[in-house]
Amino acid sequence: MSRISFTQATLPARKRIALVAHDHCKSFLLDWCERQRERLRQHQLLATGTTGLLLGQRLELPVESMISGPLGGDQQIGARIAEQRVDMLVFFWDPFEPQPHDPDIKALLRVAAVWNIPVACNESSADYLLSSSLMEREHSYRIPDYQTYLAGRR
Ligand code: PGA
Repeated sequence: MSRISFTQATLPARKRIALVAHDHCKSFLLDWCERQRERLRQHQLLATGTTGLLLGQRLELPVESMISGPLGGDQQIGARIAEQRVDMLVFFWDPFEPQPHDPDIKALLRVAAVWNIPVACNESSADYLLSSSLMEREHSYRIPDYQTYLAGRR
């Protein structure tokens, strides 16, 4: 991290929340979303393909669906994080099963760390995130300073 400079950016009050769950964790995410429906409806939701399909049916809220995770959906969400078009990631990844798209999963978690967005990997951490007072308001946070990064590479 030492070669990277940082700058301040603003997370909006209405957050763009990406939701992803591996197959054996989908029921946990669906139950959690249903329980948190009133809070979630104040934000903008997007998800990987199958997760998004199931959530749309269950929540009856608009959910923008990417491609299914194993077919590239994790990478689509990662790209949006790098473009600062996703403000939070709720990713119930399966700690018990190997996944064919493991490199994509690692890349998604890495880019979320790089861009310093809040990440929840299970129900408890997702509850803590959603009950934060920061969920309801705009606030500033630290991100890599891309202009300084580019200037240093000239
Ligand atoms: P899915 O993808 O929502 O399309 O199942 C999730 C994942 O495995 O990354």
